[in-house]
Amino acid sequence: MTIPSLYSNIIGGERLQARTGDTIEVLDPSDGQAFATIPRSGAAEVDEAVRAAHAAFRGPWGRLTATERGRVLTRLAELIRANHEELAALECRDTGKPLAQAKVDIQACARYFEYYGGAADKLHGETIPYAAGSTVMAIRVPHGVTGHIIPWNYPAQIFGRSAGASLAAGNACVVKPAEDACLTPVRLAQLALEAGVLPGALNVVCGLGSEAGAALTAHPGIAHISFTGSTETGALVAEAAARRHSPATLELGGKSPQIVFADADLERAVPVIVNAIIQNAGQTCTAGSRVLIERPVYERVMQMLAERFTALRVGPGGRDLDCGPVINRKQRLKIQAMVDAAAADGVRIAAQGRLADGAPEGGHYVMPTLLGEVPADHIIAQQEVFGPVLAAIVFDTEEEAVEIANGTDYGLTAGVWTENGGRQLRVAHAVEAGQVFINNYGAGGGIELPFGGMKHSGYGREKAFEGLRGFTTVKTIAIQHG
Ligand code: NDP
Repeated sequence: MTIPSLYSNIIGGERLQARTGDTIEVLDPSDGQAFATIPRSGAAEVDEAVRAAHAAFRGPWGRLTATERGRVLTRLAELIRANHEELAALECRDTGKPLAQAKVDIQACARYFEYYGGAADKLHGETIPYAAGSTVMAIRVPHGVTGHIIPWNYPAQIFGRSAGASLAAGNACVVKPAEDACLTPVRLAQLALEAGVLPGALNVVCGLGSEAGAALTAHPGIAHISFTGSTETGALVAEAAARRHSPATLELGGKSPQIVFADADLERAVPVIVNAIIQNAGQTCTAGSRVLIERPVYERVMQMLAERFTALRVGPGGRDLDCGPVINRKQRLKIQAMVDAAAADGVRIAAQGRLADGAPEGGHYVMPTLLGEVPADHIIAQQEVFGPVLAAIVFDTEEEAVEIANGTDYGLTAGVWTENGGRQLRVAHAVEAGQVFINNYGAGGGIELPFGGMKHSGYGREKAFEGLRGFTTVKTIAIQHG
């Protein structure tokens, strides 16, 4: 498939370049070569997009019924499915992820629009018993114009979950994708217009985070902002939202534990544990990046993990191997530096995958790495690596497992592996995480499951009906009729 080389913003239904004409080169993470350009937008383009969104919200888009909005989004889901080969190829080239993963992501994106399209006219408020002779309604209304800052790890999926829910709730959106992953968001916005999302209801502005992203978070016309990315940038976004006195949803990082008790079905657990850290080359907020193993099975689990890690192959996204490259040079160097520092501190590298034969020079390849007997308080067991690096930690008691699981700043997702029913629920309740999976693990998945963090992993919930509610606010109407 030929990939176009020039991408534009989508503002008010138009394809527009930055007013300055400035562009940013799009690099292929698999070989480091430039293959396209996106506009380098700034405050002017963001302002234009916010104005277009306001016009749509106050105008034709805002006047559609919930059922009509739902139909349009359902049509968009169908169009995404009809174009899934093209979209997956684009996502694979732009982010370096294996083609099979890109295909899963595009199907998930379609499913978000399908889910929220179906949900649009099922979201309703309530009536409240109050004083005699009165009727009180608490109705759900959209915020207005919502801002969406999406990262480079799952651009299509996060576009679907964020813009899909917001549009279904009746808002108009301005999306700022990551500079490293703008291509599918731009293409999806084009398809949205074809599906009948009215001009201005869904705008995409490409550019740098520090320019277009900062301009969007600071814009007084944004009534709600949803952000997925690092804890540091999340704090900047929340600060800007606080200055505007508007709500924010923050989906930040994680250091998610997979807790393996001695009675677990290890044959079932180990492949899932490996997949949860190598999926998307570990660049998943919910990556299961710590495996906590009960001492009696520690050696056995490590051996099973090591066998799988050693067999992993890394190479270009298009070759569909176990891991693609990571997104860019900065991330590759960050991951490598964290692994090197851990090794210098005496942390044991228990197993590593290998670069596939013929992988191009210049690609941002990081070998999947299993680290053994990691002290629970070591930096590599505390901080997000955002690469295919799994830290194994040994524990002796259920109490200690919970203490280690909760012993980081994060609280996004956890996995519990045990056949003991009482323990499954005790640990699930005790672990500080927005999602807990028992005898399975859903890194990145689960459109129908409320999702979000505790502690430094963020606040607010996305996915499911909960995500839809987050894109509305409640207005109370009290009638005194005697
Ligand atoms: P960032 O948090 O900086 O980037 C996430 C998004 O925020 C991107 O769209 C980025 O745009 C945008 N952004 C950057 N600066 C600003 C700003 N000042 N105002 C508004 N928006 C901004 O993450 P990085 O890409 O730098 O990655 C660093 C680390 O963050 C990773 O190693 C990982 O640990 C974590 N991360 C977590 C993700 C998750 O899913 N929770 C996703 C991505 C990263 P642009 O890319 O154009 O700068």
